Amino acid sequence: MSEETTPPPARKRRVVLGPQDAAAERIVVPEEAPEEEALGATLRPRSFDEYVGQLAVVDNLKIAIDAAKRRGESLEHVLFYGPPGLGKTTLATLIARDMGRSPRLTSGPTLDKPKDLVGILTSLATGDVLFIDEIHRLGGVVEEFLYPAMEDFRVDIVMDSGAYAKTYKIPVERFTLIGATTRAGMLSAPLRERFGLVYHLDYYSDDELQQIVKRSAGMLEIPIDTEGAATIARRSRGTPRIANRLLRRVRDYAEVRADGRITRDVADEALRREGVDARGLDRLDRAFLRTIADQYRGGPVGISAIAATLTEDTETLEDVVEPFLLKIGFVTRTASGRKVTPLAYEHLAMAMPPEFAAQQRLL
Ligand code: ADP
Repeated sequence: MSEETTPPPARKRRVVLGPQDAAAERIVVPEEAPEEEALGATLRPRSFDEYVGQLAVVDNLKIAIDAAKRRGESLEHVLFYGPPGLGKTTLATLIARDMGRSPRLTSGPTLDKPKDLVGILTSLATGDVLFIDEIHRLGGVVEEFLYPAMEDFRVDIVMDSGAYAKTYKIPVERFTLIGATTRAGMLSAPLRERFGLVYHLDYYSDDELQQIVKRSAGMLEIPIDTEGAATIARRSRGTPRIANRLLRRVRDYAEVRADGRITRDVADEALRREGVDARGLDRLDRAFLRTIADQYRGGPVGISAIAATLTEDTETLEDVVEPFLLKIGFVTRTASGRKVTPLAYEHLAMAMPPEFAAQQRLL
């Protein structure tokens, strides 16, 4: 069986900002650019020992894998959810490897026809691992083929219609489905319930990211000191994929404009040039905050109004921009919309509108 037999997942477009930020492509966007795929594969941990952080998840996974191996069974279906770039695909690959398999990688948007999914399912051997990225984007019809395959290891195919309709039940080997999603809330309840193991991946700490940066720098053969690695880690929005991307930008700068070593000063200057600030926020993050802080006087404001002002789509704002701003306490979500916090005003070096400041005093 082979890895990557289906076409690569459709990529969301990368975010390019408005004319005021001409040509300012986001560097801290956590989605993978096509040109990064090859390098991502090089830097991807090859064993659980190389996988940094997410300790509780990894520990529980290892127990489940060992137990399945001892019983000589396939692993239960696994669902990973959390923001992009945190290591969901990596974990799927590590699980497959630990079970002695190579994973079959595909994605929700790619599987748009039931026959594609049925073809894959019926070709799996016992114990094989099928990874579906962006599983929340599977079409409803395709999803229904998945239910009996996950639960009873069979696919039901209906031939003819009306009085002549006949259902053929085709057996499927006992495989493991690993699903990944940035939006657990968008999964239908019947699909969610069919996963025996469900894990949430959270943002990484600065220390963990520092370890990842050091390991990647070693693999890319670029000298880096602890302060240099810490500087990149602090600006990576808690996300390994961004840490690796920033490292590559800093490496370019170090090789061309410095002496080929990454120190704090080199990292600071390289990232300043990329428009990444001290908290790892880029132009779109700051534009998002400024829209609420300035135009909407601190909020509350609905996400679609912010999206319209920024000429961005709401999905990008909800999946990519907002979660980290919520995490670091710059934004809050209320029933009436998004609000910024005094921390955001401080970070943007903006004065709070008088009515906002008065409200904060009351709180
Ligand atoms: P996701 O599937 O959640 O979008 P990936 O698994 O593709 O994320 O991870 C993105 C990149 O980040 C990988 O290529 C890998 O190099 C790096 N990475 C992710 N998680 C870790 C980790 N825990 N330790 C080291 N590197 C990691």
